[in-house]
Amino acid sequence: MNLTIAGGGLAGLLTAYFVKNNYENINIEVFEKFKLERYRVDCAEGLANQRDSFKIIGKFVKPFVMNRLKRIVWIFEVDGEIKISSIMNRNFCIMIDRLKFQLFLIKKLHEMGVKINFGEKVNLNELEGDVVVDARGSKPGKYCQIAIYKILEGNFENVKDTNFWMVKKDEPETLYWLFPLGNKIANLGCSGKVSKAKLNDFIKFISDFLSLEIGRCTKNGAGLLDYSYAAMMYEGKEKEVFLKDKNVVVKVGDAAGLVDPLYGEGMSGAILSAFLLSKNLKNLEDYKNLLKKKNEFLKDRMVATLERVSNFDSFLNFMLLLDGIDMKYTKFKPFFVLRYPGKFFKMLKI
Ligand SMILES: Cc1cc2nc3c(=O)[nH]c(=O)nc-3n(C[C@H](O)[C@H](O)[C@H](O)COP(=O)(O)OP(=O)(O)OC[C@H]3O[C@@H](n4cnc5c(N)ncnc54)[C@H](O)[C@@H]3O)c2cc1C
Repeated sequence: MNLTIAGGGLAGLLTAYFVKNNYENINIEVFEKFKLERYRVDCAEGLANQRDSFKIIGKFVKPFVMNRLKRIVWIFEVDGEIKISSIMNRNFCIMIDRLKFQLFLIKKLHEMGVKINFGEKVNLNELEGDVVVDARGSKPGKYCQIAIYKILEGNFENVKDTNFWMVKKDEPETLYWLFPLGNKIANLGCSGKVSKAKLNDFIKFISDFLSLEIGRCTKNGAGLLDYSYAAMMYEGKEKEVFLKDKNVVVKVGDAAGLVDPLYGEGMSGAILSAFLLSKNLKNLEDYKNLLKKKNEFLKDRMVATLERVSNFDSFLNFMLLLDGIDMKYTKFKPFFVLRYPGKFFKMLKI
């Protein structure tokens, strides 16, 4: 069997790796538009523990972990006033050196006999193979947001276990973030309606608010967040993840639109889809059905995202009720009701 993969990002490389480990007689070729010396990753590098991501590659990614986050703090700016919701989540997210991880995967794939062609931007219809995998990432469109970021040096010691999100009532489409990559470095960015000026204002605000010393910028970049899978599920439509034309074309990662619309998180979607495809390469209906089952939660994320924009006060009230919660009690509803009865009944009223 010949498998051709368009795109050598996280989803494309992991598809090649998992497939190569699952099947014996398979030839895999990957095409990546960047030349190896210019290969880059644009991401805030927070790998969230959702869609089975820790279960699938937790151990594999361990050498590339830079930091572990245990708390999420939401900051809301409402008519000049600041409101906070602080949520404990011990197993929420690891910060990984994604470029190093992907370069490691490239080396590993090379040793396993997978051919990776760098500096080759391809169209799907020009590719040969029994199965062609579309792993080319996000596509601009109705359900796609822009994200920009800076990696900044500084002193993040006091906040190193915390991920900060910020939303302003007068611009609810924009989500700001601070992800500490360690004691001395952090990723700060925003998605939605973004501009460099807005990001700089946020950096100034958060450094004053948290009394952070922020220094030099070591990297900046931008990218797209394709959440068309969640949007179409929310609308009751089916997102096509495989097509039979000249070849069979299967989508993974952002190419399948698997970004979480609420947080802009997509690594776990890339990991899950690559893993599921490798297990179901010979039965793509199963790939499609399992992908849908494991991504059902995106519908709720879509509802919350839309509410943030169209009914900010309701979103705010709900998020403020989460203040002080330990997420370990949310895994099983009765535990949550027993631990936080007051919050539970207030939530029902929103
Ligand atoms: C600023 C920003 C911050 C983010 N932060 C986070 C975060 O903290 N946590 C998280 O989980 N997710 C985050 N995401 C989303 C996450 O980066 C993506 O969901 C993830 O990269 C998806 O992996 P992928 O392999 O599907 O796509 P990509 O990583 O985009 O890989 C696609 C690859 O295909 C190549 N390619 C594209 N077109 C072609 C072509 N025609 N021919 C050949 N090659 C091609 C590209 O060069 C690229 O290497 C962020 C995204 C952005 C933009």
